[in-house]
Amino acid sequence: MAVACCSALATHCPGLAISLPGSAAYNLTEASYWSLQESNLQPSCIITPSVPHEAASAVQVLVSNPACEHVEFAIKGRTHAPAGGFANNNGGVTIDMTGMSTVTVNDDHSLASVGAGASWLDVYAYLDPLGKSVAGGRNGAVGVGGLTLGGGISYFSPQVGFTCDTLVNMELVLASGELVNANSTSHPNLFRALKGGTNNFGLVTRFDFTTVPISKILAGGLVNDISHRSAVFSAFAGIAGAKHYDVHASIVVGLLFNSTSNTWVLSSTPIYTLPELRPKVYEPLFAVPNISDTLEIAALHVFANESATPPLNWQFWTGTYGVSANLLDKMFDAINTTLYSFDIPEGILWDIAFEPLPTVFTAPGALKNSLGTSPSDGNSVVMLLSALWPDSASNGKVHKRAAEVVSAVNEVAKEMGLEKEFVYANYADWSQQPFESYGEESVRFLKKTARKYDEHGVIQRKVPGGFKLSG
Ligand SMILES: Cc1cc2nc3c(=O)[nH]c(=O)nc-3n(C[C@H](O)[C@H](O)[C@H](O)COP(=O)(O)OP(=O)(O)OC[C@H]3O[C@@H](n4cnc5c(N)ncnc54)[C@H](O)[C@@H]3O)c2cc1C
Repeated sequence: MAVACCSALATHCPGLAISLPGSAAYNLTEASYWSLQESNLQPSCIITPSVPHEAASAVQVLVSNPACEHVEFAIKGRTHAPAGGFANNNGGVTIDMTGMSTVTVNDDHSLASVGAGASWLDVYAYLDPLGKSVAGGRNGAVGVGGLTLGGGISYFSPQVGFTCDTLVNMELVLASGELVNANSTSHPNLFRALKGGTNNFGLVTRFDFTTVPISKILAGGLVNDISHRSAVFSAFAGIAGAKHYDVHASIVVGLLFNSTSNTWVLSSTPIYTLPELRPKVYEPLFAVPNISDTLEIAALHVFANESATPPLNWQFWTGTYGVSANLLDKMFDAINTTLYSFDIPEGILWDIAFEPLPTVFTAPGALKNSLGTSPSDGNSVVMLLSALWPDSASNGKVHKRAAEVVSAVNEVAKEMGLEKEFVYANYADWSQQPFESYGEESVRFLKKTARKYDEHGVIQRKVPGGFKLSG
């Protein structure tokens, strides 16, 4: 069936790049997926539109041509959502947006227009020489599309909010195949819904962002012996929980556990969005004895150009909590107890990262995006638990153990009255429910908007990958 749909795409969309299984282009795209759970899926064809009207024609065929009636499709950006099926599918069609990755700026460089298939490195490499940036992802390989539609945590977020809060416009193909612009005056409800609504409203072809000024930044990291964790947690909590959060500070504290050596490594990346090597805000962290210090003043596009990881299975899980060093200490004990004796063939790495979500961060988007976060939640901490392992036969076992870790951590937080609602979609496992965490008003709003722009639920049905409003 999907083979006929791929033929219909070729007939009705002249010029559209279509690659079939076995071709070099198809294999290259499949190999570009970040997780094995995604690259193991095999669509019947991969289409790569290069201009918006090609993307619109392709969606029209996919939703209304009889040959495509029972064919599902996936929307692929830069493949960094690890869960299988989020941006690829088995036997259907995958729309690869990387053919639309152009970056341009307006005359005074206050706005950057970014093709939806661009990576953040494309954006930073273009904007850095102009002394401008966009509040985008920290690792340059990550996609503008997925990160922005799920919210977006950036080094600049304490200044300007989630990545999606810095948008002034999105161009997208609706379920009808119509190409529209969503902004504060044209389809304003759709504009708000897209900011956190992930891929539920259509295929975004272009994002227009407000830029921020940039010169160089404090980049790099510190590694501390795990025995110093309480001091590092205390420094982190002081920064994340500050009444007057330093808006240039963006820190991640990470706990890395290797099941083969049974060892923990404690690291932190205290980034500062100004070229200051020893900002005052990080003094308590700098005072903790470290094993290595790679902090330096660097250009964002150089620092964001991280080395690629080898193909592995990956899982993300998340939770949001109140700020407390004592909570982090207790979480470490719960995680250590749950993970210490767990192993699988060829081993597994666990990375538990904590990032501040201060009120200055949630203020710009409150009630303007669909994420449901607001300063009334207080200063918070977002946890990203990542697991990475080579042995695909262990996927089920890892999923079960990761769920146990998150549940143990949540239990500790609940006991201390520090568990928060927000489940950040871009860090969530497929089994978590980010939309429910946005709150009732937001869920009602998202569903109503989806009904208005896609009354027959075509996207809910034909684009099964990712978190679905109907699910
Ligand atoms: C190494 C790494 C670093 C990360 N760093 C950050 C970070 O700094 N900040 C942060 O907030 N998150 C970060 N993330 C999480 C990241 O935001 C998500 O994984 C995000 O989904 C990746 O987007 P993508 O386009 O690369 O992925 P994809 O897997 O290609 O897409 C993810 C989802 O978005 C949908 N989508 C993509 N493009 C479009 C489009 N044009 N229209 C409609 N739907 C679309 C896809 O259908 C899919 O469901 C990181 C992830 C990794 C693996």
